[in-house]
Amino acid sequence: MDMRQNVSLKSYNTFGINASAERLYELTDIAELPQLYSASGGNIHVIGGGSNILLTTDVKGLTILNRTRSIEVVKEDDEYTWLEVSSGEIWHSLVLYAIEQGLAGIENLALIPGTVGAAPMQNIGAYGVEVKDVIESVTAYIWGEDRSITLSNAECRFGYRDSIFKQELKGRVFITHVLFRLNKQPVYHTEYGAIRQQLKEMGIEQLSVKAIADAVIAIRSSKLPDPVKVGNAGSFFKNPTVSVELHEQINASYPDVPAYPAQQGMVKIPAGWLIEQCGLKGYNMGNAGVHDKQALVLVNKGNATGKEILELSEFVLQSVKNKFAITLEKEVQVW
Ligand code: FAD
Ligand code: NAP
Repeated sequence: MDMRQNVSLKSYNTFGINASAERLYELTDIAELPQLYSASGGNIHVIGGGSNILLTTDVKGLTILNRTRSIEVVKEDDEYTWLEVSSGEIWHSLVLYAIEQGLAGIENLALIPGTVGAAPMQNIGAYGVEVKDVIESVTAYIWGEDRSITLSNAECRFGYRDSIFKQELKGRVFITHVLFRLNKQPVYHTEYGAIRQQLKEMGIEQLSVKAIADAVIAIRSSKLPDPVKVGNAGSFFKNPTVSVELHEQINASYPDVPAYPAQQGMVKIPAGWLIEQCGLKGYNMGNAGVHDKQALVLVNKGNATGKEILELSEFVLQSVKNKFAITLEKEVQVW
C-alpha cells in the first residue's frame, strides 16, 4: 500500500487551505478498506472532492482520498433506470452521464462540486431539487466492524442539508455506493430562482434535461466563485428556518425580507440576505473574506489558514445573531 507521509492537502480541499495529512492514501478499490482501517489505528478520515470541509488543523492519522469509480445500470423498467454508482465518482460527471442517457432527476444539481459518496451526506440540493428525491439506497462500510450496510432512503433520514451520515453515523462509515432511481420521463423543475429567465435569455423554448442543466450551469458560473480561482466551499451556512412570529418581527423593520415556506409551518430566510443586511457582503478579515456576489460564501483571499476562515465565520455568525436574533448553523464540516 502506497501511503504518503506528511502530505499537503492544499490541492485536495477547495478552500485551498495548506494543512497536511499525517498519512494519505488514494483509494481505488474498496476491497482495501479493512486493511486500511487496521493500518490507521482507528484514526481515519475521508476526503472526496474536499468541497465541503474547512481544515483548521493538520489531520492526524490516515486520510483516504476516495478515487473509486464506476457507474452501472442495475435495473430498468418502463419508467425508471437504476444506477449503482461508486462513491468516488465525480458528481457532475454523473449528471452529464445521466443527461447523455436521457435520464432525468439530477439536472438541477449540475455543477455541484465533489463526489457521489458525499452527496447523501448533506443531501445536496440546488434549484428546488434535493438528491434524496432520486436516491433509492446508500451502501456503507462500517469502520471497525468489517461489514457493510445498505440503508433505504427512509433509513438515511434525509433532511434539509442533513442525513444520518452527518448525525449518528458521522465518522463511523465509508459510503461505498449510492443506488439512484432516475426517470425516463422527465419532470422539469423550472420554477426556482432564475432558471426560467435564464432559459429565456438562452433562447430555449423546448425544455429538456440538457437545457435545464445548461441554464443551471450558466447561472452558477456567473454567481459563484470558481474554487480553482478563489478558494471556497460554497455556502458556509445553512439557510435558517424561523418561526412565523420572528419572520413577522423582521418584516416590520425590513419589508423586503425574502422568505420561503419551510417544514412545519416555519419560514426559510436566505442566510446570504441576513449577512448582507449586516453590511458584510465583500467584507474582508485578513486573508479571509465574504464573497462580494453571494454573501453566504466565505472565500480564501490568498493564503488564509483554516483558523482565519473559521474566525471570520464566527464574526459573521455573531453579527447576524446580534442583529436578527437568528443563530446560523454551519453547513461546512470543520475539521
Ligand atoms: P468532501 O468535502 O470531501 O467531504 C465532505 C464530508 O463528507 C466530510 O466530512 C467527509 O469526510 C465526508 N465524506 C466524503 N465522502 C465520503 C464517503 N464516501 N463516505 C463517508 N464520508 C464521506 N452543496 C449543495 O448541497 N448544493 C450546492 O449547490 C452546492 N454548491 C457548491 C458550490 C461550490 C462552488 C462549492 C465549493 C461547494 C458547493 N456545495 C454545494 C458543497 C459541496 O460541493 C457538497 O457538499 C458536496 O457534496 C461535497 O462533496 P465532496 O466530495 O467534496 O465532499
Ligand atoms: P438564490 O437563488 O439567490 O436564493 C437564495 C436562497 O433562497 C437559496 O439559497 C434558496 O434556498 C432560497 N430560495 C430561492 N428561491 C427559492 C424558491 N423558489 N423556493 C424555495 N427557496 C428558494 O440562491 P443561490 O445562492 O444563487 O443558489 C442557488 C441554489 O444553489 C440554491 O438552491 C442553493 O442552495 C444552491 N447552492 C448551494 C450551495 C451550497 O454550498 N450548499 C452553494 C451555491 C448554491 P435553498 O438553498 O434552500 O435552495
